[in-house]
Amino acid sequence: MSGRQFIQSPGPTNIPDSVLEAFRRPAVDFGGPEFAELVDSVFHELPELFGGAHRVVMHPSVGHGSWEATLVNLLEPGARILLPASGLFSMRWVEMANDLGFRAESFPVDLRRAPDPAEIHARLAADSSHEIKAVLVAHVETSTGTLADLAAVRQALDDTGHPALLVVDAIASFGTEWIPMSELGLDAVLAASQKGLMMPPGLSLIGLSERAVEIARTGGSPRSYWRWAERFEPKWTYQRFGGTPPEQHLYAFRAALDLIAAEGGIQAVATRHRRFATAVHRTVEAWGKEGPWELNVTDPAERASSVTCIRSGDLDADTLRIEARDRYNVVIGGGMLELAGRAFRIGHLGDLNEPMLLGALGGIELSMAHLGLPHGPGVRAAIEALAR
Ligand SMILES: *Cc1c(COP(=O)(O)O)cnc(C)c1O
Repeated sequence: MSGRQFIQSPGPTNIPDSVLEAFRRPAVDFGGPEFAELVDSVFHELPELFGGAHRVVMHPSVGHGSWEATLVNLLEPGARILLPASGLFSMRWVEMANDLGFRAESFPVDLRRAPDPAEIHARLAADSSHEIKAVLVAHVETSTGTLADLAAVRQALDDTGHPALLVVDAIASFGTEWIPMSELGLDAVLAASQKGLMMPPGLSLIGLSERAVEIARTGGSPRSYWRWAERFEPKWTYQRFGGTPPEQHLYAFRAALDLIAAEGGIQAVATRHRRFATAVHRTVEAWGKEGPWELNVTDPAERASSVTCIRSGDLDADTLRIEARDRYNVVIGGGMLELAGRAFRIGHLGDLNEPMLLGALGGIELSMAHLGLPHGPGVRAAIEALAR
């Protein structure tokens, strides 16, 4: 196929040239001063990037690794947790917690809605003996496109006077939403390199509150490789990673942080993501005026700025997804859970500008036209939204 591919799935995302080029360097002495300076410069910026983390730890792992690391560092064996099942990723996290011997209390969430803070409030209020040690929430549920209201979840903990930790999977929102961790009273915020951070998969990050750091030092479950305690005040760079540092990833991370700074910081990046999300929402609404297309998330306040899930009514959404990929080189995500085959997902996060977004939306609309699927003029609506 001629021309370039448009990666508009909700991860992995586009990798900017400067990040890609940062990988192209020979191995360095990880005990030497040059590398120590690089690592220090990255770690120096991370607390602020997390909106006031007390410490940030990093694993050379995918996001699933940060899930496990967080569970075993912050929870005693068999601890009870509360984790709303707001979509596929939350459900998998529940499974992992149970596999590790924790007792996950979950409850079903309408896939068109974010987790209801009132339900969390009720369950915390019912737990008068404070058996629940942590509330875990997916900030953006990548499988449905919902955005959880973290302030309202915090409020539920405060109103009930419940001491549980508040742990947030921000893997699909980090770098696309501004998450003021200390202001929101979050104890752990999880991120991964291949979503909003514009890198390949392979680095996961966890921002921690002072309380979480204390628990990781003195409590938790049996663990060795995942243990954070030595990572907080490392004597050698080696200790930050529990082994050989992923050197090239760190050079790439430096390049990604420089791009974020050049755009005006993480809040400016979040503003761009919100603008792009709005353009996608207007596009889908316009498609839907003359077709079955519909935004999965009903409440506009609960729509993520990083990913949009679009329902296709009775039409087979996979046919559209495959047409877009194989004919026009536009990669989008499929529907998940009961939306399999009945929805597709557009990732609009990371390294992206208006023409790239329009290109992807245009490719999807062209696929609809080529397949003869009914739709209104979506791209025109996107241009209007972006021009505003
Ligand atoms: C992508 C994603 C994950 C999993 O991350 P991996 O790097 O694939 O392990 C977990 N949670 C959310 C919300 C995600 O979007």
